[in-house]
Amino acid sequence: MKILIVGAGGFIGSHLSEEIINNHKDWKVTAIDISSEKIKHLIGKNGFDFIQMDILNDGGALDEQVKNCDVVFPLAAIASPLVYVQNPLKVFELDFEANLRIVKLAVKYGKRVIFPSTSEVYGMCSDEAFDEENSNCVTGPICKQRWIYSCSKQMLDRVIYAYGVRDNLKYTLFRPFNWIGPRLDDVFNANNGSSRVVSQFLSNIIHEKNINIVDGGEQVRCFTYISDGIDALIKIIENKDNCADKQIFNIGNPNNEFSIKDLANKIVQLAKNYDKLKEHVEKIKIVNTSHAEYYGKSYQDVNRRVPSVERAQRILGWKPMVDMDSLLTKTMDFYFK
Ligand code: NAD
Repeated sequence: MKILIVGAGGFIGSHLSEEIINNHKDWKVTAIDISSEKIKHLIGKNGFDFIQMDILNDGGALDEQVKNCDVVFPLAAIASPLVYVQNPLKVFELDFEANLRIVKLAVKYGKRVIFPSTSEVYGMCSDEAFDEENSNCVTGPICKQRWIYSCSKQMLDRVIYAYGVRDNLKYTLFRPFNWIGPRLDDVFNANNGSSRVVSQFLSNIIHEKNINIVDGGEQVRCFTYISDGIDALIKIIENKDNCADKQIFNIGNPNNEFSIKDLANKIVQLAKNYDKLKEHVEKIKIVNTSHAEYYGKSYQDVNRRVPSVERAQRILGWKPMVDMDSLLTKTMDFYFK
């Protein structure tokens, strides 16, 4: 099977590529990205082809790649809350327009699409656990520009679904809930608010900046270790008895439900076990800030985000295995051991 991964140089793409190259020798990966930093260890390996390409400016070269594959993962996107509020049109151009083009190419050439939707599509839904078939997608007013990411993803989910109905597009939508692990972001270089929460906190510690928790840090997220996420993606690619076709799956760990405040405290405690962090962590505090101060006025938060993973369990035979302590330790070991 020929698998095209667009955005293969990112967090999810690099782990997916690695897993395929190491453990699924009969599959081949064509990896497209503007950057190869996180996949440089794979370049030159059997079954792995890297093409450096900017999909916003590829002169049509991407068309040929979609034509030549069996399945495409359109993973290239901006997934950083600060960019949602500071440069929402950049998010729309990449996350929606560029990925819509890939979806249309998949329809044209009859290819399978495995698309990363997001837990963010549920927005401010108040359900206890978000359900792929029944939960509402609840976003805020237009002036809260942060919703452009959620809406871009939701619209693509709807477009892909509609192509499935009209043109029999073979697709699977997966919704990651805060996947965490090695290579998440460059923690040694992160600017405030530009990276995801765990990497942001680690970066603050290294740079001896106080950890900001926004609006009291009562917001709840479910953290999922990358290997659990990749296990689900492999099952989706395998697609036993076509079980993943035209399906949507939440891929998250409901057992790792943590408030941002508790997460900050836990990371600070764990940091004391690492020689590279020990001194730095003594010099910082956890401080409260408002979302307007931290992200700007067009931010709006989601209080609680917990997935139901019953569908993924029943249909794919998948369930998350890695608990919160192990997930944070494995991630911190990667950066600081
Ligand atoms: P990431 O930011 O680590 O990776 C995205 C990759 O896309 C980067 O390597 C980047 O260089 C590449 N890219 C950006 N612009 C490009 C362009 N113009 N041309 C070619 N490549 C380009 O993100 P990730 O965490 O790996 O996420 C992958 C997908 O999963 C995204 O669509 C994201 O929205 C979605 N997602 C991720 C999570 C998560 O927990 N990590 C949660 C929900 C959804």
